[in-house]
Amino acid sequence: ATSGEESDVVVLGGGPGGYVAAIKAAQLGLKTTCIEKRGTLGGTCLNVGCIPSKVLSTWFSRGYGESLSILVFCLVPAMYLELIVQASCALLHSSHMYHEAKTSFAHHGVKISNLEVDLPAMMAQKDKAVAGLTKGIEGLFKKNKVTYVKGFGKLASPSEVSVDLIDGGSTVVKGKNIIIATGSDVKSLPGITIDEKKIVSSTGALCLSEIPKKLVVIGAGYIGLEMGSVWNRLGSEVTVVEFAPDIVPSMDGEIRKQFQRMLEKQKMKFMLKTKVVGVDTSGDGVKLTVEPAAGGEQSILEADIVLVSAGRTPYTAGIGLETIGVETDKAGRILVDKRFMTNVNGVFAIGDAIPGPMLAHKAEEDGVACVEFIAGKEGHVDYDTVPGVVYTHPEVASVGKTEEQVKGEGIAYRVGKFPLLANSRAKAIDDAEGLVKVVADKETDKILGVHIMAPNAGEIIHEAVLALQYGASSEDVARTCHAHPTVSEALKEACLQTFSKAIHI
Ligand code: FAD
Repeated sequence: ATSGEESDVVVLGGGPGGYVAAIKAAQLGLKTTCIEKRGTLGGTCLNVGCIPSKVLSTWFSRGYGESLSILVFCLVPAMYLELIVQASCALLHSSHMYHEAKTSFAHHGVKISNLEVDLPAMMAQKDKAVAGLTKGIEGLFKKNKVTYVKGFGKLASPSEVSVDLIDGGSTVVKGKNIIIATGSDVKSLPGITIDEKKIVSSTGALCLSEIPKKLVVIGAGYIGLEMGSVWNRLGSEVTVVEFAPDIVPSMDGEIRKQFQRMLEKQKMKFMLKTKVVGVDTSGDGVKLTVEPAAGGEQSILEADIVLVSAGRTPYTAGIGLETIGVETDKAGRILVDKRFMTNVNGVFAIGDAIPGPMLAHKAEEDGVACVEFIAGKEGHVDYDTVPGVVYTHPEVASVGKTEEQVKGEGIAYRVGKFPLLANSRAKAIDDAEGLVKVVADKETDKILGVHIMAPNAGEIIHEAVLALQYGASSEDVARTCHAHPTVSEALKEACLQTFSKAIHI
């Protein structure tokens, strides 16, 4: 859209929130324009977040990150060779095959040797996956007739965005409704300058050219642990420094303890209740001065690379909010009502730029609901049932309330737990580290929260999400037939355990 042509909806930002909102708006018959400054669609998630990190972590999950192309099998049954050949067509699938081969095939007399890391090849594969996916969204824009404007947009009025175009020049895009979907950016820490060389953000950690011998991760949240475990599996000595007494504070306490133990077993080190008070990059590597969070004796931590993973901050400065008077909170998040409208009529905001979990799927849900409201329909997002997944191996996934939250709210509750050691599928694939924990209301048996540490927990959790969404009881899930042998049976058993007794323990 050039100056003069008015869209029904103008979306500022082409991340998971923005591009999904744009496609949905077009599907609902609204003339739609999306403005993106990056030059590629998909936002943080596709370009420097969920997708590239998952490519890496999947390659290296369970600690085997070596290039598939140089696998040498002795005694490989023909069937498995065929699988490996097919697998090379798709990275995620091939890495899955590889893990299966590495972890399970030994029992079947299949040996693997001569494995080595081919970092450039792996990075190239990651870039290819990202490029393919971002181009795919451009294709969807074309298919749905969404106008795509490449440039940096600034709100000029409640119905106008002025855009500095990537290819030079500028334009004004007019819209009856504007959706701000500018997402978030890396949060730095006071006194620490991210140079993306020795001191990197998650973006820099996704494209290191060498495997660091020593990596220090500042911050034990989801992203720090995922990135830390990727490089740990590749051979880096990883130390995670965290100010708080626990890793991932939002996680259920019992699951968190097991999770930390599991990461320690994988040789990641943790310095909790510790703060970084000084950084020296003058030598070859980095020297970090750390001390106990409560104060005390200082010590020096040496690293080749330091990853700052202290959270993300909404990207809302410098985009013209003040020009039209859009209100934000102290953290810079745009304040919206239930319809995602800001205090300025016709101006909406979604995704990481507003309060709520900073997750791609939440941003997408926001985007859909927001345009449904704009189109005069009802939209709905239930933030209480947004799942969270840590893509380590095993994965840790959760939805709803933790036991600590339920206790804190004074709700009478029951807990059902089932260890993966008692699950036949997990045992069969020799991947039985973890558990499923269900928290249910003592009176009504309604499921309040589900927490899973298991292989593919990020897939299994959706049964629990659906259960919470529809207000199911643990008995409802326990009486639902689950295919055998599957890891999902552990969820059924944990549900049984909340109101009765599991069969297999
Ligand atoms: P963004 O994805 O940040 O997109 C906003 C877009 O707006 C950007 O492309 C930006 O360039 C553009 N923009 C900003 N300002 C302007 C402007 N003025 N003009 C034009 N364009 C503009 N979430 C998950 O759910 N699962 C995961 O596994 C996961 N892993 C992650 C791993 C990492 C390393 C990181 C950093 C994040 C991860 N996230 C994950 C979080 C996820 O990426 C974000 O929650 C999600 O991308 C938010 O979507 P969004 O559309 O709100 O914003």
